[in-house]
Amino acid sequence: MYKRGVFSFPGFYRKKDKVKPLALLVSPPVYDFALYDLYLKPYGLLRIGKWLEESGYEVKLVNALDYRDSESERVLGHPRRKQDGTGKFFRMVVKKPDVLKGIKRRFARYGITVEAFERRMKLHNPDVVLIGTGMTYWYLGVIEAVEVSRKLFLRVPIVIGGIYATLCEKHAKSKIGADFVVSGSAFEELPAVLERSGLPVPVPPADVSNAEMLIPKELYGDAAVIVLNEGCPFRCRYCASRVFYESFKKGNAEKSYERLCKIHDELGTENFAFYDDALLFRKEEVLKPFLEMVVKRGPKVNFYVPNGIHLSYLDFDTVRLMKEAGFREVRIGLESSKKEFHRLNDGKLDLESFPERIAMLKEAGFSGREIGVYILAGLPRQRWEEVEESIRFVSDFGVRIFVAEYSPVPGTPMYMDSLKFSHFPIEDEPLTHNNSIFPMQWEGFTTDDLDRMKQLARELSC
Ligand code: SF4
Repeated sequence: MYKRGVFSFPGFYRKKDKVKPLALLVSPPVYDFALYDLYLKPYGLLRIGKWLEESGYEVKLVNALDYRDSESERVLGHPRRKQDGTGKFFRMVVKKPDVLKGIKRRFARYGITVEAFERRMKLHNPDVVLIGTGMTYWYLGVIEAVEVSRKLFLRVPIVIGGIYATLCEKHAKSKIGADFVVSGSAFEELPAVLERSGLPVPVPPADVSNAEMLIPKELYGDAAVIVLNEGCPFRCRYCASRVFYESFKKGNAEKSYERLCKIHDELGTENFAFYDDALLFRKEEVLKPFLEMVVKRGPKVNFYVPNGIHLSYLDFDTVRLMKEAGFREVRIGLESSKKEFHRLNDGKLDLESFPERIAMLKEAGFSGREIGVYILAGLPRQRWEEVEESIRFVSDFGVRIFVAEYSPVPGTPMYMDSLKFSHFPIEDEPLTHNNSIFPMQWEGFTTDDLDRMKQLARELSC
C-alpha cells in the first residue's frame, strides 16, 4: 500500500493525498542529422509502463516524438506521413555540437517544440520520472528530458533506462544528470531503484518475454509494434542483440495473436511492425501458427519487417502464408554478396540460395518493390568496391536495395575493431557512433564513395 507524504532516501519526497504513486514515462526528443519514422516506438518503455500499472502505479506518458501536436504544427508545419504509419517527425535545425562541427550536414532536433514538451510535462505531478533511451548517439535528447524533469519536478527521482543507458552506462552516469541509470533489464534493475526512492516495489513478471505493454492510441493508432520471439540465435560481430538477450527465447503464438487483436479492436490499428531479431527462427512453433490464426480468424491487417528477416529460413509455405496474412513487404539482411564477409562476420547466410529465395518471394506474389535487401556499408577496413559488388549482385534480381550504414555499437565484437580503426573519438563520445557521419571512413572508403554507393543503390533498385 502506498503511504502518503513520507521523506525517503536519498531525499526524494513522495507527495501527499495520492491514492497511487504516479510514474511518468518520457520518450525524449531526438537530436540527429536525419530521422525517419520507420516504426520507431518506445516499445521497452511501454512494457515497463504496463508492468508498473499492473503493480499499482498510475502511469502517464509524454511522447516528445508525437507528430500530431497542434502547437508544434503551427510553428514547424505538418510532418509528412504515409498510410502505412511511417513518415517524418517535427524538425527544427539546431547548432551542431563541437565534435560534429566538421560534418557538412545540418543537425536538427526532432520532436514537438521545446515549449510543447514542457507544457505536456507540466500537466503531471509524478512521483518518479522514467526516461527511455534509444541510439547511443541520441543522448542529447535524454539530457533535455532530464533537465526539463529536474526543473519541473523538485526532488522527484529521475531514472533513465533503455539502449543507450545499457550500452554506455559509464557515459550516462557521468553526463546525463539523472538520479539513477538502469543498465540492462529494467524488470530486474528498477525494483531496487524504486525501493531506494521510497516507492512501492513491483514484483517482476514471471515470464518477462511475454510481458504486456501499454497501447496508447497516440503511439499505436497508425502503426503498432509486435514481437513474437526474444533475441537471436546468431552472433553477428556487428550486432548488439546478444548484449540485450543472452539467447533466443521462443515466444507464444496464441498470446501474440491475442495482443494483436486487442490493439486492433481497441485502437483500430491496421499496420503492425515486427521488432523481432529472428522472426523466422523456429517458425513452425511461433510465426506460422500466429499467421495461420490471422488468416483464419482475422483481423485484416498489414505487416512490416523493418529489422529484416533471415533469408535462410524462408520456404515456399511460409512465404505464401506471409503474403496471405498481410505482409506488405519483406526486407532481407543480405549485408554482402561476398562469402568472405559472412565467414568473418556473421555466418548467418546461405548465399547460394539467394536467387532461389527471391524467386520464391516473387512467385508468392511479392513484387520487386515489396522486396528490400539490406547491404551493410562502412565496416572497419571495408572497401567501397565490396559494397558496389554487392549492390550490383542484388540488382540482377529486380528488388529494392537499401544501403545500411554501419554504426559502432558498444559491447559488440566489432566495436573493438572500430575503436582502433576510426579517427573519431568513439570511446569517449557516443555522438560519433552516428552512422550519418560515416565513422569508419578512410582512403579505401570515403564519404564521397558512400554517397556514390547510395546513389547507385537508388538507380539499380527496382
Ligand atoms: S542475425 Fe540479425 S539480429 Fe541476429 S545477431 Fe545477426 S544481425 Fe543481429
